[in-house]
Amino acid sequence: MSEIRYDRLHDTHVLIAPERLRHPDVPLSESDAFVGEPCPFCEGNEGMTPPEIFAHRSEGSFPNEGGWDTRVVPNLFKAVQLETPPHHHFGLFEYWEGFGAHEVIIDTPRHTTSMSEWSESDAVFWLKTLRQRVGDLRRDQRLAYLSLFKNEGRNAGATMSHCHTQLIGLPMIPKNCGEIYRRSYEYFQTNGHALMESILQHEEETGCRVIEKKGEFTAFCPYASTYPFEVMISSMKEAGQIDTLSRTRIETVASLLVSTLQRLKRQLGVFHFNLWVSTPPLIENEGIGSADLCRFTIRIMPRLYQFGGFEHTTGIVINPVTPELAAKLLRESTHE
Ligand SMILES: [Zn+2]
Repeated sequence: MSEIRYDRLHDTHVLIAPERLRHPDVPLSESDAFVGEPCPFCEGNEGMTPPEIFAHRSEGSFPNEGGWDTRVVPNLFKAVQLETPPHHHFGLFEYWEGFGAHEVIIDTPRHTTSMSEWSESDAVFWLKTLRQRVGDLRRDQRLAYLSLFKNEGRNAGATMSHCHTQLIGLPMIPKNCGEIYRRSYEYFQTNGHALMESILQHEEETGCRVIEKKGEFTAFCPYASTYPFEVMISSMKEAGQIDTLSRTRIETVASLLVSTLQRLKRQLGVFHFNLWVSTPPLIENEGIGSADLCRFTIRIMPRLYQFGGFEHTTGIVINPVTPELAAKLLRESTHE
């Protein structure tokens, strides 16, 4: 049984999840070829996963059979689960009995191992699936926050090579995530507009960290990038959130995302990365304010270096690549 424990000393939470010890150590290949066992995420192997929660399917196809573009299944080695009871106090300590939801979104029916190989339509199906799942889980009153992320490659913590995304629903708002929304709310109260609006306005005036613009969305290297070649995709104007993005905006984001990942691949070769899709807290919390104050954002975090003691003890990361140089190289990295 997993537990979400509150760390009183650092004012943060830890997921103690012994179930994760049994997670299969599936060999990861840098190439397209899958090494070893048949891949449970490939089309035709639907019987190897738990029954699907949702799938984007061609008309006339049946659940848990072929004919899908994306497929969502419960995580077999889930860190949290919905069925368990909530919050307990235990003397000085407090914990939740692993309360939450853990889903795996299988991004493509083909054995694609890198998001940088995706077509725009792959990215559109993926975004539509995230839209559906977040929209569905948002209705669960027991959840306070949804963490939506991808791990690609061993350095990013991936244990399955077939492209997939994870969605973890939690009964509380993680400290880091809540603070992003709190800061944006405070900025709005002082300045009358969204923090990302000001950031992007400044980035577009300066231009040196902007990579590409498509429609309302801009891909740029953040001024204080934590990771070398870190990229954010966001919009100056309010464009909705992952569960309310319009069809046109999904198509624009998909196109900019595919183009950005291809630029990164041309510059870095095979690279491991984490990807985060912003999700405003599901419950209104004092000081966080409206979700509209935070723009929909995708953050790509290449994992070129391991963090050491300095990073872990101070929270300050040493990034050896200036965001200005990264943006210049990515801007110039166009199709031959
Ligand atoms: Zn596969």
